[in-house]
Amino acid sequence: MTRRVVVAGGAGFLGSHLCDRLLARGAEVICVDNFLTGRPGNIDHLRRHGGFRLLRRDVTEPIDVTGPVDAVLNFASPASPVDYRALPLETLSVGASGTANLLDLAYRKNARFLLASTSEVYGDPRVHPQPEEYWGHVNPIGPRSMYDEAKRFAEALTTAHRATHGTSTGIIRIFNTYGPRMRADDGRAIPTFIAQALRGQAVTVAGEGRQTRSLCYVDDLVEGVVRMLDSDLPGPVNLGSPQEMTIIDAARLVVEVCGADVPITFVPRPQDDPTVRCPDITLAREALGWRPLVDVRDGLARTVAWFHGRVERPRSPWLV
Ligand code: NAD
Ligand code: UDP
Repeated sequence: MTRRVVVAGGAGFLGSHLCDRLLARGAEVICVDNFLTGRPGNIDHLRRHGGFRLLRRDVTEPIDVTGPVDAVLNFASPASPVDYRALPLETLSVGASGTANLLDLAYRKNARFLLASTSEVYGDPRVHPQPEEYWGHVNPIGPRSMYDEAKRFAEALTTAHRATHGTSTGIIRIFNTYGPRMRADDGRAIPTFIAQALRGQAVTVAGEGRQTRSLCYVDDLVEGVVRMLDSDLPGPVNLGSPQEMTIIDAARLVVEVCGADVPITFVPRPQDDPTVRCPDITLAREALGWRPLVDVRDGLARTVAWFHGRVERPRSPWLV
């Protein structure tokens, strides 16, 4: 089992849940984060934990860690469309220099390296559901390109590092994941809908809401990441829910779970917004014995319970 783990982006939504999970199984965790899109509040509860250390660092700068390291998990990057559009150069830089620095750290420490890649490498897919063999359909100069291409480059870099230095690397393609600790203002559909419904505001559905996503609860995702860490699989491996739904159905379900009485309002669909998205998880099932277990209604209920009393002042352009 991995004893000492560097979690880059550990103060973010997924990274903080990963820190929790690794500490719970007895690992020592070194969380590296510059709080670009993460929050101290996500890890405050860990500060007194003897196995937890926070390094406030920008991973686009070369990084060293004293002592042995068994694994380096690269979860550092703006991840929501609102965040990465506001931070295009930072997103490209963390995908490129950040990934290079963390790969170098893993190589020097002889540690396993995991890259949090994304379903966005498939772009607006022409193959559905998406298997790992699909190369994707990405606009390299479009409004999502800073994120999609940063991750595609990070995958190429990870692959080249393995081929050149023999680093034990694993690429995970994460599909839409939701849960407690998402920011109400990060612009992603689920936290936006929950915040709107809890505030008694109309829920903003883009286009006619017929585009689809597959929603995975954070605990399921973290389980998949840990299994990938414990394996020596290079990937890429898709991790996500194969339960596809339309965005309008997701909005209706959120409103229902919130027990709110709010209307749905239709807003323009962003350029290059993928029309469908659903993972083929055959590889994760067969190689990792993994599949999501939390039903979407149950996962949303847990998420809504966390958001109660925490919704902040509106900031996202999606919030009316
Ligand atoms: P998040 O924004 O909550 O977390 C990202 C963290 O990285 C933040 O704490 C941020 O401060 C930190 N960070 C960003 N740039 C950094 C830098 N230069 N140096 C140090 N720290 C930096 O996002 P998230 O949803 O938790 O996503 C985490 C990772 O998972 C990202 O790499 C994202 O691309 C990937 N991912 C997430 C999803 C999802 O549905 N949440 C889907 C696909 C991929
Ligand atoms: N979306 C929406 N209303 C919102 C925010 C997002 O209808 O307030 C739509 C968005 O256009 C996309 C889907 O919900 O079709 C998922 O968006 P999200 O930003 O959560 O994830 P991603 O587009 O990265 O999959």
